[in-house]
Amino acid sequence: MTEPKPPILYVDDDPKQLTAFKAAFRRDYEVFTANSAAEGKLMLQTRPIDVILTDQRMPETTGVEFLESTVSEFPDLIRILITGYADLKDVISAINKGKVYCYLNKPWDEQELMVILKNATDICITRKLLKEKQDLLQKTNNELEKFVYSASHDLRAPLLSIKGIINFAKTQSNYSKQEYLPMIERSIDRLDVFVGSIINYYQNVRFEVQPSELDFKKMVVETWNSFDHVLEREQIQFNYHIQQEKVFKSDEFRLQVILNNLFLNAIKYQRKNDTSQFVSVDVDVEEKFATLSIKDGGIGIEPEHLERIFDMFYRATQEKHGSGLGLYITKEAVEKIGGEIEVKSQPGLGTTFKVVIPNQM
Ligand code: ADP
Repeated sequence: MTEPKPPILYVDDDPKQLTAFKAAFRRDYEVFTANSAAEGKLMLQTRPIDVILTDQRMPETTGVEFLESTVSEFPDLIRILITGYADLKDVISAINKGKVYCYLNKPWDEQELMVILKNATDICITRKLLKEKQDLLQKTNNELEKFVYSASHDLRAPLLSIKGIINFAKTQSNYSKQEYLPMIERSIDRLDVFVGSIINYYQNVRFEVQPSELDFKKMVVETWNSFDHVLEREQIQFNYHIQQEKVFKSDEFRLQVILNNLFLNAIKYQRKNDTSQFVSVDVDVEEKFATLSIKDGGIGIEPEHLERIFDMFYRATQEKHGSGLGLYITKEAVEKIGGEIEVKSQPGLGTTFKVVIPNQM
């Protein structure tokens, strides 16, 4: 994929200068031109621009005035002033008021300007990368706060429930193991699922992506069979259709996390007492992408929840136990291997998750 050219804007009231500038730099930059400060401002407001160059001597607004007027609205813009008159006052005001990155004599020298533009756009690229890192850090930090808050609550709930059962059992004279132990076991299972999700989350964040050859049929069948201890699975009709002729590489651990969570939900959110419960899995492996579709005929999801079901700790129903972490971890795992996930659902009829992952050959 070719990198997009950095967008730059040159403002000058002399049309010859604008034409010469465009001819000199359009190979390496996406060059925009404007013949007045007003037109230049409009351009800044309507498209992203990394670097702006302006002539100082223009009829209505000087270059310095124009640059100064862009400082608060476009603080990240890199500003360059060009002038044929080496007036010290202009230079000082350009630096102080117009926050210029650099000051150039007119007529500009193509080689010199080439170097200046390269440095200026490099600064923009570095700033953007820094901003992305900062945003990611902010996101991680927010999630961490939310995580500590909710996790402590979710970890405590089953423990308190076990404690309650034990205390109650102590007060009973004819204490029956058969009655209380299964209740304790259920709470421990909930705790175990929750801790398992946290481990998955940690591994997904920490472990490097390691592509290896995948056998989709084996993975789908083995994952489904791994739920044979789940009681609800018994009534469910499971169908799968796997079309894989090509060698396909991706990270097995992440795919396992994705299948585990989506299968678990497809089992968990079936309609009660429904005699036609089903889960269908389709996998289509092409040269560049594999598309997985996991469809169930379960309770479905109301439209107002659909946007948020991938959020951390978000639960759209209290009908079943859960942590609200499964789909969040699934989405994180999908994104880690460069894929995308989407959901379609009809309340009362069922839900389909579609996952597209790239071949990392
Ligand atoms: P959990 O299942 O632990 O609540 P998830 O993150 O796995 O958390 O899912 C978030 C919510 O999305 C669930 O609470 C449930 O309401 C909804 N959901 C997920 N998968 C399905 C599905 N296959 N059918 C119906 N609802 C689903």
